[in-house]
Amino acid sequence: MPFNELGLSEKVLAAVDAAGYKEPTPIQTQSIPHVLERRDVIGIAQTGTGKTASFVLPMLSLLERGRARARMPRTLILEPTRELAAQVEENFVRYGTKHNLTVALLIGGVSFADQERKLDRGADVLIATPGRLLDHFERGKLLLTGVEILVIDEADRMLDMGFIPDIERICKLVPFTRQTLFFSATMPPEIQKLTGQFLQNPVSVEV
Ligand code: AMP
Repeated sequence: MPFNELGLSEKVLAAVDAAGYKEPTPIQTQSIPHVLERRDVIGIAQTGTGKTASFVLPMLSLLERGRARARMPRTLILEPTRELAAQVEENFVRYGTKHNLTVALLIGGVSFADQERKLDRGADVLIATPGRLLDHFERGKLLLTGVEILVIDEADRMLDMGFIPDIERICKLVPFTRQTLFFSATMPPEIQKLTGQFLQNPVSVEV
């Protein structure tokens, strides 16, 4: 299936073209239409399959309507490591050149002040590691009640790193009516349980 049959916006299709991608990867073909329909999605996919674009591209499309308010991110992407969080940010920058969206990165090892300034300006896309996100929340610098889309990426690595309690807490802080996109390379029982708790009528995609 060509990219232009997935339902992506013109701006996103232009970005895909500029990236030189000829056709979507299997995870992209299978998940992008569901994300655009606002369904919850469980994607079982490894890194290297084009998994990142499978959520970044449709999120860019969906974010074209609306605007972020101070301290209230519209979308939240959780990553287990700083490196992965930074890679996702690069993807939003690469594909979002025409979008004029604000992307903020909340990771450890960087000063709180710069991150707070970004939050104050209003983030359309907030990419975070769980611990640093909760630090900002506890300092009262962040409201999660405006989150329309929650992405939990690399869930099995989150489990290995002991982040599941943080993830559970964050899932309870975002609105019940949000859309949730959940990615994991494997589906151990603890991860399966998490999807049962926090996703609603999800579509499963496995590549
Ligand atoms: P990921 O699985 O998200 O880590 O992506 C792996 C690599 O595949 C990245 O370098 C992307 O730039 C590239 N990529 C993503 N989607 C496509 C596509 N449809 N065609 C060719 N390359 C792609």
